[in-house]
Amino acid sequence: MKMSTYEILCCPVCKGELELKVVEKTVLENGEEDVIEGTLHCEKCGVDYPVSEGIPNLLPQE
Ligand SMILES: [Zn+2]
Repeated sequence: MKMSTYEILCCPVCKGELELKVVEKTVLENGEEDVIEGTLHCEKCGVDYPVSEGIPNLLPQE
């Protein structure tokens, strides 16, 4: 997940901002950071959305 993608993401439930916690990342040829593993946390909902193999999973969680 590119940082430019992260910047346009919001919580699917409350549409609030997501806080990114990076576990593993790489840097693309253009210098942009690409998150491989991490979590997107919504403070308001208290939910963590996983980023796995570069793909953010923003499905609402029960
Ligand atoms: Zn939320």
